[in-house]
Amino acid sequence: MSTLRIRAELVEQIHRHAAETYPQECCGALLGRDDTEAREVLALLPLPNRQQDSPRNRFVVSAEDVRAAERAAQQQWLELVGWYHSHPDHPAQPSAFDREHAWPWYSYVIVSAGTGAKPEFTCWRLADDRSHFKQENVRTTAGAQP
Ligand SMILES: [Zn+2]
Repeated sequence: MSTLRIRAELVEQIHRHAAETYPQECCGALLGRDDTEAREVLALLPLPNRQQDSPRNRFVVSAEDVRAAERAAQQQWLELVGWYHSHPDHPAQPSAFDREHAWPWYSYVIVSAGTGAKPEFTCWRLADDRSHFKQENVRTTAGAQP
């Protein structure tokens, strides 16, 4: 199983974004570094959810978002390593729609949002044949950016 490292304050920031946009989905880009040992998230780029017809459960990243995220990553000497979005009132499990619209390689963080249970934080990567998502380990790291 692959591992995603992310600083605790960025996990908090994603949960906050999800709470702010609730009951609509939030989404954003994960910027960081990818090496053989582990993938690490070092910064976030919150994005507007452009899916107007059903923003509650339709996370879509546009080509424009990809360009903006790649630009933001470059400016910080980072790479675009994935995406995050929230599931309002639903568990942090990828939907069939998520899978159909995902690309290989990227890490997909999903957080649950709502008034009920403790928010969940999960991460997924699409299998190479796109048939399913594989769950990724999440390791939260403390402290400031080196
Ligand atoms: Zn989703």
